[in-house]
Amino acid sequence: MKKWTALFLSVLLLTGCTQEPAPSQPGGQFQPGRYQGTGEGYGGTITVEVEVSADRIEAVSILSHNESRGVCEAAFEQIPAEILRQGTPYVELVAGATLTSQGVIDAAAQALEQAGGEFTPPDPEPEVRTQRELYAGLVIAGAGGAGMTAAAEAVREGGATVLVLEQQDIIGGETLYEPVLTLSDGTLTSGYGMLGDLRAEVEEAGAELLTGVKLTGLEVTDGRVTGVRAESADTDYLIHAQYGVILATGDYGGNPELVLAGAGETGLAEGLQEHFRTLSRGSSDGSGLTAALEAGAAASGLGQLEIWDSAPEQRRLGESRELLCVDSDGRWLTVPEEESAWLQKLMELPEGAYWAIGPAESAAEPQTDTAAAQKDARLVTAGTLEELAEAMGADPDLLRQAVESHNAVAPEGERLETGDYAAEWRTPVLAETPGGIRTDERGAVLREDGSVLPGLYAVGAAAAGVEDDGTELWSAAERAMLLPGRAVRTALGLPDEPEEPEASD
Ligand SMILES: Cc1cc2nc3c(=O)[nH]c(=O)nc-3n(C[C@H](O)[C@H](O)[C@H](O)COP(=O)(O)OP(=O)(O)OC[C@H]3O[C@@H](n4cnc5c(N)ncnc54)[C@H](O)[C@@H]3O)c2cc1C
Repeated sequence: MKKWTALFLSVLLLTGCTQEPAPSQPGGQFQPGRYQGTGEGYGGTITVEVEVSADRIEAVSILSHNESRGVCEAAFEQIPAEILRQGTPYVELVAGATLTSQGVIDAAAQALEQAGGEFTPPDPEPEVRTQRELYAGLVIAGAGGAGMTAAAEAVREGGATVLVLEQQDIIGGETLYEPVLTLSDGTLTSGYGMLGDLRAEVEEAGAELLTGVKLTGLEVTDGRVTGVRAESADTDYLIHAQYGVILATGDYGGNPELVLAGAGETGLAEGLQEHFRTLSRGSSDGSGLTAALEAGAAASGLGQLEIWDSAPEQRRLGESRELLCVDSDGRWLTVPEEESAWLQKLMELPEGAYWAIGPAESAAEPQTDTAAAQKDARLVTAGTLEELAEAMGADPDLLRQAVESHNAVAPEGERLETGDYAAEWRTPVLAETPGGIRTDERGAVLREDGSVLPGLYAVGAAAAGVEDDGTELWSAAERAMLLPGRAVRTALGLPDEPEEPEASD
């Protein structure tokens, strides 16, 4: 009751505030009459009535609202007055009551449109961006395990200011989620633990770590990489690098375009095209690779994709190759001996997914990791094959035949006996992109003709095709552990350490 009284008083009050029309109005031709429109303010819907003659807005009145008293009055007074004065609903917002102002403007615009008026909303305010120019000795792009290792090596060597850019708001990249890493002295640690230690060391030594800043391109002067372009939410950076730029930007498994372009028309790539699923958590967007290629670097192994038959979160029943696997109808999927043939078969399934079936009692607890692939994780259980088929949405006859066929060839221990069954829906996923920026064993980035692209280095998962003594392709661990130190020393023109530790994979 109280609210209605307040509303009524407010309508009277505000109708009393109706403004006098201005002599000339550019708004357009109207169907004379009164029209109502609504807009959303701070407290809810605001209803406005406009009165128009053939060629002008005669009055603007607020009919109802639920805005806060003490705040809305200025907008209710000034916005109608300005609409009349300027002959357009698109007038400046009243400071301190911008939401109420916008609600009145939207409501008036809607009413005037019904009256036949044609008004164009103004272009949004141009974004104001800050420009920053910075100078550093070494610029490292990417604060995952490899980038932070490079930063630590650089501060230990001393003599150069170090600036690390990380596009995400937190450091760590994919390394952050590594449960077990072997350090060069043989110590076991987690990605999280290692990164915390490296960060403390690097920051204590005075290196600058800019998070939320993404490298977008490389500056090349006379054939040498001399700096980077980067951006944050509100700033564009030009950063000069006296000794060089180290790309530690990780792999590119989160960028479907790069993955598919590199993989060409293989069956696996087709499967990925249909159902792109990656274990990448979003930081591996290939932007470092793209910048390097634009600056003249060569790529290596872009067609290589490491695909797994399921994400770890989808393996509550064990390895697919040791279980009964069927398609969505319940049709048996024989498991070829060759891993590649098996993956090919799975990638060609229409849904890009399949059921793996085992005894219910073998199902492990679900993992809590929130990788993208987990959204597809699904496990159903049943006491009989018929019930299981129903839960899976499969054909019971096909499922029964599948069990018989599987049991006829499966070794003991992998056969599916009677009891409670569990079926897990699994999707093949892209686990890693072994390819990347072609790099030599010093971490120096190479051009297509095999020559060094001066001033540019790549380490960690961003680096690829690394050959030592012309033969060995380095492992991911070596590229992340050993290349950073080598790249730093090469960039700074320092001699190598006498002995480098062995890396384990
Ligand atoms: C000390 C150490 C020990 C290891 N031990 C093992 C081991 O025992 N076994 C094993 O298999 N592997 C090991 N590894 C390797 C490891 O598993 C991965 O290969 C490694 O974590 C990949 O790290 P990365 O820094 O290259 O990529 P990521 O950790 O993915 O980091 C890349 C970072 O770059 C950022 N980035 C990307 N693009 C841009 C851009 N344009 N601008 C700014 N930032 C960007 C991303 O946001 C991300 O934070 C080890 C690695 C290290 C460092």
